[in-house]
Amino acid sequence: MNNVIEANNISKAYVDGKFTVEVLKALNLTVVAGEQVAIVGSSGSGKSTLLHLLGGLEKPTDGVVSVMGQDMQGLSASAQGDWRNQHIGFVYQFHHLLAEFSVLENVCMPLLIRGVSLKNARQQALPLLDTVGLTHRLTHKPSELSGGERQRAAIARALITQPAVVLADEPTGNLDADNAAQVYDLLLQLNRDHNTSLVIATHDMLLAERMDRVVRLN
Ligand code: ADP
Ligand code: MG
Repeated sequence: MNNVIEANNISKAYVDGKFTVEVLKALNLTVVAGEQVAIVGSSGSGKSTLLHLLGGLEKPTDGVVSVMGQDMQGLSASAQGDWRNQHIGFVYQFHHLLAEFSVLENVCMPLLIRGVSLKNARQQALPLLDTVGLTHRLTHKPSELSGGERQRAAIARALITQPAVVLADEPTGNLDADNAAQVYDLLLQLNRDHNTSLVIATHDMLLAERMDRVVRLN
């Protein structure tokens, strides 16, 4: 099973009162195991919409999205959630870490939701937090971290379930150039080390050109 994500002829339109906004039209995209894909395009071109469709967070108006060979529309909402939890990691522009929990707890959370024991979850989280350079921040709350540290924690949280693919929506959009480069280096390193496919929406062309493939939305 080499195709991690397949989007066949997907379209997305939003109906807003009298107006229909056609955001994506008959788009085809296949992401294979270990592949790095950048999604570029100006603001409003549909990058976030595409990532939501690829991750099964929204459904296409037309067409089919398959994740690890499974047509997402063929699943009930709860089965979709389980499938996502099993195969996909998400990283957002705003870290979406839980404010009341420590870095270590945040990274353990996806495993705890799966019913993994706290001890076992910690055993998996600690080496990953070491990889992203946060061993000295385990008990800190998100509010006590820098922007770059928060994104690195969010990346560790996305990877803890060993997903086949990480979907990242402008993960460096809130960071200064140095921190953005660090977070990008980290994502690419994790992609190489774990063969996790990577789909990143960005409007930074320099960063996008470091990826295997660039998909441009108009
Ligand atoms: P990008 O991430 O490239 O900036 P988006 O995918 O967020 O673009 O948005 C693409 C277009 O779809 C925009 O014109 C936006 O206004 C519209 N859009 C996005 N989400 C919705 C929604 N829930 N309802 C109506 N229009 C939306
Ligand atoms: Mg967006």
